[in-house]
This record gives sequence, structure tokens and C-alpha cells, in this order.
Amino acid sequence: MDQTEIPTLLDLAIQNLMVNEPVLIHALEEIPRELFIPLFIAAFSGERKNILKAIVSTWPFRCLHVGTLRVQEPHCEVLEAMIDGLQILPVQNSSTRAPKLRVLDLRQDADCRTTCTDISSKFPFCFQSCIYSQQSILKIQEACNNIANSESQPQSSRKPMELFVDLYFDGTLRSRKFLSVLLNKVEQSFGSLHLCCRDLQISKTSDYKSTLKFLDLVCTDHLGIDQAYLSEVSTLLAQMIHLDSLSLSRIIFRSCKGKNFRNFLTHLGQMDNLEELSLSFFSIRDQLNKLLRVLPPELDFLYLTFCELSHKDFISLSQSLQANHLKLLNLSNTQISWEYSEPFVTLLENLSGTLQHLEIDSCLITDSTLSAVIPTLSRCSHLRVLSFASNPITMPVLKHLLQQLTPLMELKYVIYPVPVHCYEQWNSHDTLNQQKLAEVKAQLKGMLQAAQREDMNWTMCSE
Ligand SMILES: [Zn+2]
Ligand SMILES: [Zn+2]
Repeated sequence: MDQTEIPTLLDLAIQNLMVNEPVLIHALEEIPRELFIPLFIAAFSGERKNILKAIVSTWPFRCLHVGTLRVQEPHCEVLEAMIDGLQILPVQNSSTRAPKLRVLDLRQDADCRTTCTDISSKFPFCFQSCIYSQQSILKIQEACNNIANSESQPQSSRKPMELFVDLYFDGTLRSRKFLSVLLNKVEQSFGSLHLCCRDLQISKTSDYKSTLKFLDLVCTDHLGIDQAYLSEVSTLLAQMIHLDSLSLSRIIFRSCKGKNFRNFLTHLGQMDNLEELSLSFFSIRDQLNKLLRVLPPELDFLYLTFCELSHKDFISLSQSLQANHLKLLNLSNTQISWEYSEPFVTLLENLSGTLQHLEIDSCLITDSTLSAVIPTLSRCSHLRVLSFASNPITMPVLKHLLQQLTPLMELKYVIYPVPVHCYEQWNSHDTLNQQKLAEVKAQLKGMLQAAQREDMNWTMCSE
């Protein structure tokens, strides 16, 4: 019998408590502290908004993290109920069962427990606390200590608090409602609640500006912007210095020789911690060297898709110290013709000791280019994922590639294109010959079995 299916005494107690909502809410003042965490998990998972609000308002620990619990959608009503329950705490309140919550964390995080207070109940501490903003608990307490030493009185009658949230400005009614709940709470706090946003995603810049004034962008480490002017991107970057990840898509600017582009590079050059850069539909033809030059020396992930890269840009990539240690490179939807193969091979040679993930889908790579790349590719000993779908490759070269890659023991996933002989007209899905397709799959499967590499997953992309 599966022991995990038998409810424990605690499960039964929680189920009983959840049945009668008014009684449970009333009892929260008296139930043992230890019951709060399983009660919170049950209320969150069951989307019991009234109970959640009451639990947050009486939470007996310093911090509360959504952590590993699954959030259905980024701006859902369950999170709104939690914001609603957050009590702005007066400084003089020191009763033992008074609300203690100072840090409410609405982010999903697989490595984060519901509360950090087990470490020390005497000096409660939260591992996720903000360390950058002047409005953070840490910085306000430092300032208060300095004021206390210099005889002045503390200015605020409320304890500093923090609310962590990932924000997605996508212009939908749902996200607007969520933002208004959030901003109401910040306004009610009269400056004692720090809204800390580490992951900020903006789609179209039209309706985000009024909200941004409530954020301290120095806290943000992940930024994604889709559809904006480059000058708007620079305005945001000017307020950020701790970015780990920057993703820009469909950014509008007139030229890589203008003032806006120079401004952008200046701000990008301040991001010493940047590990991941993603540019898509970002027209940088012949100017990639300028961009690479300002990046930190050991970038891990680089996405350059739909960026109209030229031969000169490939040479820049192959000579760049900044692109010398990449773990992930995505150049999909860039034309890699025969004349580009030499700098591309040099680039792969540079990356052979670090590269784990390579995507070169829809690059118009032909047999001759791929054949030139195969010897270097087969030396990328840490490669785990290779995707080169939607390229005009023939069956003999595909088989040769498979033979050369089977010794790469870390390589587990290969997404390969439909060989050209399976089409009547290349890349036209309607002209695909299903029987030839099945033969290709069977041949490759047989070769993998013969090489004893059934652990390697070869998937055909026929779209
Ligand atoms: Zn914590
Ligand atoms: Zn912060």
C-alpha cells in the first residue's frame, strides 16, 4: 500500500479547520504558530481567498514566501488577497501574538521555503531581504540607528516592510487590476512599504510609466522589454546596475551610429553582473563589435535572433573575448551561408570547452556549411542540446553528423531538420512525403541503437 496516500493527523486537522471558514478565521488568533504554514499551503492550493487574507494579516513569522507553491497566472486573485491581508505595522506594537509579517514574497521560487524564521527566533532574518534599495528594511534600519546615535527622533511611526513581486506589464485588464491593488497598498503605507521587483517584463511601453514611479529599479535583476523605442530602454537601464539578464525584442531605433544607440551602449556597459543577453528583431547589422565590447567578460547566455548579422558581425563574434565562454548560443533566423562558415567555426572552437546549448534553426545552413562545422562541433564535449531545425540538409550529411556526434556523451537532445529529399518543394509542409519521413526516422533510430546511444533523443522538426 502506498503510505503517501494515508492522510496524517495534521492533514485531517487542517481539512477540518478549512471546512468552516468563519470559525477558522476567528480561531487564527489562538491556534499554535506551527499550524500556520500547513494552513497557508492548504489555503493557497485551494484558492481560499478569505482564509488567505486572514492568514497573512495574522502571520506569526517575519517573512512569508509563496516559494514552491504553484501560481496559476502571474496576476491572479489569490495574490491580490494576500496583498489585501498585509497589515502595515505600527512601531509600538510588541505583543507576542500581534502580526509579525515584515516581508511578503509573492514570487514563485523553487529554492525558497515558506518562511526563513526557523534559523533563529530571537533575531528573525529573511534570506531574500532586499539589500539594494534605500527603502529596504536593511537600509532604513541602518538610517534609524544613525539617527538614534545622533539624538534625533525616528521619522516614521510604521515599521519598514517589503513586498516582493514579479511584474508583467502586458496591458491586459487583469494586470491593470492587480497593479491597482498593489499600488493602493503602497500608498496606504505612506512610504513604509518597499515594493521590490526583481523581475520586470514590459510588453509595449504605453501603460507602465505611472506604475514605475513606485518601483526602485536598482532592485531589478531581470528585465524584458518587447516593442519600445531604444531611448525608452536607455531611460530604464540608467536606473539599473544589478541586471543579471536583459531581453530586448522589437526595439525601434533609427541607426547604430546615432546618439540613442551610443546612450544605450553606455548604460549596457554599466551592467557588470550581466550573465544573459537576448536580442531579437534588433537590427544591429555590421555593428555587433560595438555591442560586444561593452559586455562583461564572461557572459554565459547569448541570444541573437532576427538580428540581421553580417559576415563582419560573425568575425566580431569569433574575435570577441566577451563571447568566449558562452554556455548557450542562439543564432536562429540568421543566415549562416558558406562565406560565414570560417568565422562560425572559429567561434565554435573558442566555445568548445564551455558550450552546452547551441541553436541555429532557420539559418539557411546547407550541406557544405554544416560539413565545415561538424569537426569542430564534435569537439564541443559539454554540448547537451543542439537544435538546427529548418535548414536545407541532405540525408548523407545528416547521417555523417549523427556518426560524429555519438561520442559526445553529454549530448542528449538533437532537433534536426527534415532532409530535403522528403519535400517536393523544400520547407513547404504540404509537399512532405510521410513515407520518406518515416524511413529517415527509422534509419537514424537504427544508427543510434548501433552506436549504443539510445539515451540521445533525436527529434525531427517538420514545421
Ligand atoms: Zn524569508
Ligand atoms: Zn528592493
